Amino acid sequence: MNLFDYIGDKGHEQVVFFNCNTSGLKAIVAIHNTTLGPALGGLRMWNYETEEAALKDVLRLSRGMTYKAAVSGLNLGGGKAVLIGDPKTDKSEAFFRSFGRFINTLGGRYITAEDVNTTVEDMDHIYQETDNVVGVHPAHGGSGDPSPYTAFGTIRSIEASLNKKYGNTNLGDYTYAVQGVGHVGYHIVKTLREKGAKVLITDINQTRVNDLVHEFGAEAVPLNDIYDTDAQIFVPCALGGVINENTIDRLKCDIVCGSSNNQLETSKMGHELEARNILYAPDYAVNAGGLINVAIELQGYDSDRSNRMVSNIYNIIERIYKISDRDSIPPFEAANRLAEERIAALGETKKVYTRNPLTRLTGRRRTIQVEA
Ligand code: NAD
Repeated sequence: MNLFDYIGDKGHEQVVFFNCNTSGLKAIVAIHNTTLGPALGGLRMWNYETEEAALKDVLRLSRGMTYKAAVSGLNLGGGKAVLIGDPKTDKSEAFFRSFGRFINTLGGRYITAEDVNTTVEDMDHIYQETDNVVGVHPAHGGSGDPSPYTAFGTIRSIEASLNKKYGNTNLGDYTYAVQGVGHVGYHIVKTLREKGAKVLITDINQTRVNDLVHEFGAEAVPLNDIYDTDAQIFVPCALGGVINENTIDRLKCDIVCGSSNNQLETSKMGHELEARNILYAPDYAVNAGGLINVAIELQGYDSDRSNRMVSNIYNIIERIYKISDRDSIPPFEAANRLAEERIAALGETKKVYTRNPLTRLTGRRRTIQVEA
């Protein structure tokens, strides 16, 4: 493998491999782009079949974080880390503290967070060694469960999409099909029902479905029927790749807007939705509430501030739709364009020299005093 071609292909700045034989840590940190600020992105633990698969994953995920932070108006770049190992057997305090010590050497260029198979407890171990971690326990100034914020951002995205499609933001006037009623789906169904909407739900966890039918008066739909309903809004909150060759012709909805990552199996699906006059709210902009919430920890966590910033996702989705109309491109491409335009514009402003106290003006060297 020609490593630099591989890494440079998507414009990554830095990829670091960390190894600790005693704790068993094998980690890869990928920093994609830091034009807007330090690279923030979660720490994923996975039993990757090959090291190449781990590298591929971290490169893909870190690039996604650049776009997500940029489109959300955050002063953050994109990064991600993967731990190669079995989350059931390979975790220990030493393992995560070792990771914390290593990322500390990156001098704040990378900030880690929870992701698939890592927990608040793992973040707390990392926090023993470095400040460059968010998603720690609320006792340490952490922001807690991100799901209500992700759900709120999704609701704001639905409102922006209703406005675009029908010129009406009243959630209660429509029928929704919600696929997956876990952490995020639960809060979405709750809000929609409170607004008086008709809500169809499905989940592989039947107990969960029964609970929501009972608690909120949602209507249960068999797993595979969720694509065929008469709901105007399809809300994927379970898995990626749900808009694919097998499902797209079954959709009768006007809008797809949910919290799942990577909903379009291929970019062709984004064009196909457009051709069918189905409005697609780009997933990574819709579900940025969790990232926005956790990022606020860096300035001292404040839930009111978080709510204000997550509420602004309405305006972000609206801008994406405007770019989509302006440039005659589908919204999923417009989201990328919005992110790229912001990075380019702010990158330009950084070319102007402003005196930074850390900038060395001359060739003077600091004298380091070494005690005898
Ligand atoms: P979760 O695991 O709590 O809930 C997912 C639910 O989907 C579960 O109840 C599960 O049983 C169900 N499910 C799994 N496979 C299914 C299938 N084939 N059909 C129907 N239901 C199925 O996860 P979550 O935290 O609620 O997140 C939901 C989605 O939003 C995920 O794709 C996640 O990556 C994304 N997301 C979540 C957050 C967050 O803050 N939690 C942030 C950004 C993105």
